[in-house]
Amino acid sequence: MEAPKDATEATKRALAEFAKSLPADSGEDFELVKRGFIATIPGGKILNEAGHAVWDMETFAFEGEGCDCPDTVNPSLWRQAKLNSIHGLFEVTRGIYQVRNFDLSNITFIEGDTGYLVIDPLISAEPAAAALALMREHRGDKPVVGVIYTHSHVDHYGGIKGVLSDEDIANGLQIIAPEGFLEEAVSENVLAGNAMGRRATYMYGALLPRNAKGHVDAGLGKTVSMGQVSLVAPTVSISETGTRMTVDGIEIVFQVTPGTEAPAEMNFYFPQFKALCMAENCSCHLHNLYTPRGAQVRDAKAWSWYIDEAIDLFAKETEVLFASHHWPRWGSDAAVAFLKKQRDLYKYVHDQTLRMANHGDTPLEIAEKLALPPTLAAEWYTRGYYGTLNHNAKAVYQRYLGWFDGNPANLHKHPPVEAAKRYVDLAGGADALLAKARDAFGKGDYRWVAELVNHLVFADPANADARHLQADALEQLGYQAESGPWRAFYLTAAMELRNPRPPSDKPRQGAAGQIKSLPADQLLDSLSVRLNGEKAGASEIAFNIRFTDTGERFLVTVENAVFHHYPDREEKSAPTVSLSRGALASLVIGEIELPHESVAIEGDAEPFASFLSLLDRFDFWFEIVMP
Ligand SMILES: [Zn+2]
Repeated sequence: MEAPKDATEATKRALAEFAKSLPADSGEDFELVKRGFIATIPGGKILNEAGHAVWDMETFAFEGEGCDCPDTVNPSLWRQAKLNSIHGLFEVTRGIYQVRNFDLSNITFIEGDTGYLVIDPLISAEPAAAALALMREHRGDKPVVGVIYTHSHVDHYGGIKGVLSDEDIANGLQIIAPEGFLEEAVSENVLAGNAMGRRATYMYGALLPRNAKGHVDAGLGKTVSMGQVSLVAPTVSISETGTRMTVDGIEIVFQVTPGTEAPAEMNFYFPQFKALCMAENCSCHLHNLYTPRGAQVRDAKAWSWYIDEAIDLFAKETEVLFASHHWPRWGSDAAVAFLKKQRDLYKYVHDQTLRMANHGDTPLEIAEKLALPPTLAAEWYTRGYYGTLNHNAKAVYQRYLGWFDGNPANLHKHPPVEAAKRYVDLAGGADALLAKARDAFGKGDYRWVAELVNHLVFADPANADARHLQADALEQLGYQAESGPWRAFYLTAAMELRNPRPPSDKPRQGAAGQIKSLPADQLLDSLSVRLNGEKAGASEIAFNIRFTDTGERFLVTVENAVFHHYPDREEKSAPTVSLSRGALASLVIGEIELPHESVAIEGDAEPFASFLSLLDRFDFWFEIVMP
């Protein structure tokens, strides 16, 4: 592996200049993040059954107390990284406890009459179990009496088996979630799942070493845990704001906030504790209106509106505000001030983007110009550690006006490789382009180097000088980035440019777990986007599917190179395929081949076989920074 490089003089100068623009640091956040500390596990190290660490805060020891910001890290991100390094069990208020930084997200425990109500059981079971064990050690060995999922993202439900046994689940222990939770939890990442998954390897820095030239923080939290992930369906669905419930003597008032940070999300208030949980609608930074791993853009206006509604509903009484990431705010005034600024942060980005768009500015122009007003810019919790003003402005534009900026020069551009060949030619060939780019590198204009050399990499990926110069430029941009995801994108790209993966003639598929656990309808839906239209051509195929594990039946057809599936319909003249969802998934990804003992076909076997032959297998490790 080729090693990362040092920060250039230009990067050191840029970061020194950047540091001058930061708000004064009163030290308040470091007091808040430590307030109520009870205990932690040594080194923040959590092992799975096989003895492998699924979480290890020791790997972030280089960010510990007294460690100064290296010149390869943005000082603002470094500050956030230090805050996110403080882990353990904390008292939020008497009766409410959080374990923070045992995973990307927080797990919260509320003390009821006889046991603990758990909010957001992390990404994987081992960290959630470790958090519960720590809680029990310090607050008493009591049962879990219920679980709340704040929203449909995996870092808020995946670890549930760490806090609930299969028996608890079979006994129907209450699992409370916002309406639409299950559909959103399974659907958000399915149809575009392979592309999102691969891009997420860039966004979260999972491939990077943890050090001053590698991964330092995700902004939202340290990183993602690597344990057992599962999805257990909720038993109680909350669909209306104002809904009240009592669980084990704990009174809860809900506010549903669909279409905000997640498609299904909710805030809630605990009257007897005067405590407000803002889910992930508020966090100690600017969140993503668009997540760079790829997803549908979020609605900044709705997001802001629901924070405003939370102020109306709960803020007057609130004495402590906590959330599913980062640290709480104590005192009514502090909570209200925080909520108002979070509310206005998202509305400001929304309104100002559209103001400029209505003047005719295009996304790149708006993103470059957008800056926070002084009152919002004065707070650390508005900074772009996860989302950035730059990419969020583009998200607002995309939501209202789409990808096209209105300039027909951008309506039908050449695709990357074709454009690249022409740019290299225009530059006078590869050597002339590299000479210009090295000149720009010397001047610290890394954004320009990245744009210029990207053309040469795409025109000729075998050109090692081009790949290395491109890696050098992206790396310096990574060192300069304030956003955890931006840094991770840049540094992962640099790593892949310097150490390309050997090409493979067969698809290196990602984890198959998710497709196997899909409901039948969604599993079939996901096959639609695997059907290779070119191969399908004029084929006409029809067969019936009976799922042996769920009892569901579908008619499946292919015509006009399009796949359709119809529940509860059968075509008498067509063959019938009986198999489990798992067997179908295994056939699709090539784990098993026809004929197979787990697949029974009544009638002609050919239509099903030819259908399978028309489905693509996706290569998880497709190239991003090379053609
Ligand atoms: Zn989250």
